[in-house]
Amino acid sequence: MSTEQKINELREELRQHNYNYYVLDAAVISDYEFDMKLKELQKLEEEYPEFYDPNSPTLRVGGEVTKNFETIVHEYRMYSLDNSYSKEDLLDWEKRLKKQVDGAINYTCELKYDGASISLTYEDGVLVRAVTRGDGVQGDNVTTNVKTIKSVPLKLKGDFPAKFDIRGEIVLPYDGFIKMNKERVAAGEEPYANPRNTASGSLKLQDSSETARRPLDCLLYNITGNRLGIISQFESLEKARDWGFKVPVESKKVNSIDEVLEFVAYWDEHRHDLPYETDGIVIKVNSLQQQEELGFTAKAPRWAMAYKFKAEQVSTKLHEITYQVGRTGAITPVANLEPVSLAGTTVKRASLHNADQIEKLDIRVGDTVFVEKGGEIIPKIIAVNLKKRKDDSKPTIYITECPECQTELIRKEGEAQHYCPNYAGCSPQIIGRIQHYISRKAMDIEGLGGETVALLVNEGLIVNYADLYELKKEQVVPLERMAEKSAENLIEGIEKSKKIPFERVLFALGIRYVGETVAKKLAKHYKFIDAIVDASEEELVNVDEIGIKIAQSVVEFFASEENRNLVRRLQQYGVQLEISAEKLANQTNKLEGETYVVSGVFEKVSRNELKKMIEDNGGKVSSSISSKTSFIIAGANMGPSKLEKANKLEIPIISEDEFLQKIEKE
Ligand code: AMP
Ligand code: ZN
Repeated sequence: MSTEQKINELREELRQHNYNYYVLDAAVISDYEFDMKLKELQKLEEEYPEFYDPNSPTLRVGGEVTKNFETIVHEYRMYSLDNSYSKEDLLDWEKRLKKQVDGAINYTCELKYDGASISLTYEDGVLVRAVTRGDGVQGDNVTTNVKTIKSVPLKLKGDFPAKFDIRGEIVLPYDGFIKMNKERVAAGEEPYANPRNTASGSLKLQDSSETARRPLDCLLYNITGNRLGIISQFESLEKARDWGFKVPVESKKVNSIDEVLEFVAYWDEHRHDLPYETDGIVIKVNSLQQQEELGFTAKAPRWAMAYKFKAEQVSTKLHEITYQVGRTGAITPVANLEPVSLAGTTVKRASLHNADQIEKLDIRVGDTVFVEKGGEIIPKIIAVNLKKRKDDSKPTIYITECPECQTELIRKEGEAQHYCPNYAGCSPQIIGRIQHYISRKAMDIEGLGGETVALLVNEGLIVNYADLYELKKEQVVPLERMAEKSAENLIEGIEKSKKIPFERVLFALGIRYVGETVAKKLAKHYKFIDAIVDASEEELVNVDEIGIKIAQSVVEFFASEENRNLVRRLQQYGVQLEISAEKLANQTNKLEGETYVVSGVFEKVSRNELKKMIEDNGGKVSSSISSKTSFIIAGANMGPSKLEKANKLEIPIISEDEFLQKIEKE
């Protein structure tokens, strides 16, 4: 046998043992034998580096160090899930489903694993990338760390598709978590608070050999890609299992909401027997064609629903109410609590939202309160234990002045929040606006964090975001905890932000009510900043999906001489304040004013590609047929009730080919 053959054989053998041990939980050789074989392979690989393979089992031990995790845009967005808490919620959901799809609906019930979500990309059966969920649109490239997790296959078996993404959750099973904590305590270190945060923290460790030492596990639940030849969610779980992934076997196919509830009841009780944390179950429409018909809201798939297990509750004492000032001047009251352990973390603070909430709870300093935490990170105060209230307790009086700059607070008609109107002089507002500007979804300035912004403002080096572009390295170096190298990175990061596309710059400006989606809409419609600066309220409300509140806020923002000045300066520094020529070239107005519904299965392009084409050409995509629908693009298996509705409303139905011809460039 040649050396190359020997190496390949060992790799194959070790891969199989890894799979037996970590995926199937059924080892066939002893740890010792495994180690001996691994050592043998390591030795051969060292001697014959020409047979290097990035997916060799020897590389599971890690060693590569990552300083900055690269940002990767997900090819398919990673959505969140809608939540339900009762039978009624589920029946309502089913009613909505039945309006949108034809035929019987079956469901797959799965456990909701509580860890860190991950998206793995495989090409030709080889793991090429692992990316965290991040904000759903883009995440961090953590491939080197994920490769050290033994239940993640580096190479697949069976009849896998050429290219696909698979999503799952990286969890830290209780056993491993407890063992890690014991070791930490023995070494005089603080124990970790809970498995979930430890799992997500483990993905962002710079040294992958450190990640390799953590007993992480990866549980998969969703396959995403174009034309994969799979017809149901349940089938996709089985397929993934065949290809070598760890897919928990608890999942169940059911035919009714009643059966869903049985599954919930069973696992609400038995979840503590599982080796890892779960915080609910996830119910998914089983047919992938029905899933396609249903599509997504801005936040979550319409075809899936989480059902949260009952939240844990504890009672504790309220010591003090403090008030925070946000970047828009909004005041948020915060309850400072006697630290208490809840669902694995120590809770010390909870948001009280606004004055109305305080009044509604009639919450007072010294009260004993009930705190609840669902799956969310932020705990909530749900009630006061009046039995324990002292006789001399006094009602809470809401503040009237800004705690930071002593300006008198205002509260607009119909709004719940109090505001500090001192836009130009209130320090948390100044700092908050710049922090928003540099944040990840906005200008994403690498090398500059929120604390450094505060430092720069407090040192008088900047007072607004345009000032960032005037910063010199020499000014930054003398700052506390600032090394030569980090000052360089900071300046470089600011320079790089000049390439960030217009829509994100527009979001970064921090105009009230102009979130990511609205910024995209405005950028697409107006194409360059001057057109927005000059737009009147009436013009703005005529833009699709822009309401009066947003329009007023935009006009108000640009009415300020100071803001117009800021924009002019950004323009001078070379920040993108118009849509790039390249993007413009790919966009047309051919479908302006037309609304499309896409239904069925297509041959040449995927449904998502079709939708993008419609939007790039100025059209609108809608998920349900109404009198406002201009065309229906129908693929194979368009649902009969949709067809009937289309005929009744006399809406033209066109094929994939007809549509592609329609938008073809002259
Ligand atoms: P949430 O973070 O509460 O919006 O819930 C959405 C998250 O649940 C997803 O991003 C997944 O990471 C996670 N999740 C856990 N188990 C599942 C599952 N079986 N199916 C889908 N998502 C799941
Ligand atoms: Zn103030």
